[in-house]
Amino acid sequence: MDAARVILQPRRARPFYGRHPWVYAGAVAEVRGEPADGDEVELYSHAADFIARGLYNSKSKIRVRLYSWSPETALNAEFFGARLDQAIRLRTILGLIPPPQPSPTDEGRASDDAGGSRSMASPIVGGRTACRLVFSEGDGLSGLTVDRYDRWLVVQFTSLGMARRRDMWADLLMERLRPEGIVLRTERAIGRLEGLELQDGPLRGEVPARPIEIEENGLRFLVNIALGQKTGFYLDQRDNRQAVARLATGRRVLDAFCYTGGFGLHAARAGAREVLGVDSSESALNLARANARLNDLANLSFVQADVFDHLETLLQEGQRFGLIVLDPPKFARSRNAVEEALRAHRRLQALALRLLESDGFLVTCCCSGLITMSMLDDLLAQLTAEERRTVQVLERRGQALDHPVSVACPESNYLKCLISRVV
Ligand code: SAH
Repeated sequence: MDAARVILQPRRARPFYGRHPWVYAGAVAEVRGEPADGDEVELYSHAADFIARGLYNSKSKIRVRLYSWSPETALNAEFFGARLDQAIRLRTILGLIPPPQPSPTDEGRASDDAGGSRSMASPIVGGRTACRLVFSEGDGLSGLTVDRYDRWLVVQFTSLGMARRRDMWADLLMERLRPEGIVLRTERAIGRLEGLELQDGPLRGEVPARPIEIEENGLRFLVNIALGQKTGFYLDQRDNRQAVARLATGRRVLDAFCYTGGFGLHAARAGAREVLGVDSSESALNLARANARLNDLANLSFVQADVFDHLETLLQEGQRFGLIVLDPPKFARSRNAVEEALRAHRRLQALALRLLESDGFLVTCCCSGLITMSMLDDLLAQLTAEERRTVQVLERRGQALDHPVSVACPESNYLKCLISRVV
């Protein structure tokens, strides 16, 4: 049976020839056939030329997510398995997961399979570095995120098409990586956008009842994969934490929106005089305290508070810092999301500039794809005048290497981290 066809409006095909994976409802002229949600469809231009193959969802504004630009390739387990292997290969090259070791039962096969990847056995066991194994659009797998924490995998589906294939994904991941368990985590807001109903919990194997210990840049962190935010840890900041730590020596550091202590612990180990972490989540702070103890770092303290309020309090108390990290959440997803988020960033940065000593360092992070680096530049330019401080940008950074940016999908370039010196 032929796949249903989705026909584009006239003059709407260009982004999809450019391999952008999201076909919004407004670009669609007609659907021929009766695809069920999650079914495979073919995308055609108005002039009846084949463009790509994707998965359909009548409930989402993203009506089709595209995966293949070849008319012959069916979107089956073999196709998705090959994409998964490509993603795993990158993390292996980056040294984030150990190279595959053939297991005794695979040995005969391994040599016939040179260059192939089906015979991988247990590549993830035996290294504690956590990493993002699959980064949705960044890895050509729109709607699927997979993180690896020691011997466990955490899967997030952000599209209905991928979620409907969860057994296929669990099989593929078990076969390639042989984890002790696979845990499903979902974000409620995304479920609503996609018409998805999923229950958090184990997809395969057991979910550990206690936090999992991982390693990042030689530091130990406890991660709660069942209840922590997102999939448990903000892996995208791994390299930024290291870059910021370089500047922390001898300084009093404020880690605002510290979650489980990622930036703060790195700074403390690099010889910060003192680190204060602030976050609104008490459960995150409990892990942050445990993480400090786990690494024998004594000069950290953590406060549960709203960061906006607490920065005011610190200012009133006359406190000053030599390095301030601002790593806030996305803030808003509404229609005025950009405006709303920029206002929040402006408030935070203005307060941080007032709290910084002369020759201090300001680290501002922004995880909203809607806010661009140049918007952050403009904001700093305005604040430098208003707050009468000289700001020099030292580094513009993005997300860690296991969160690759697809050039076809600029939205996959979401994390910004600006490191500045403030005189
Ligand atoms: N810097 C962290 C990640 C921060 S994620 C790391 O390196 O791991 C954003 C954090 O902001 C979350 O921990 C969330 O609990 C916290 N948060 C959100 N809004 C807040 C607010 N208004 N005040 C304080 N913390 C807040």
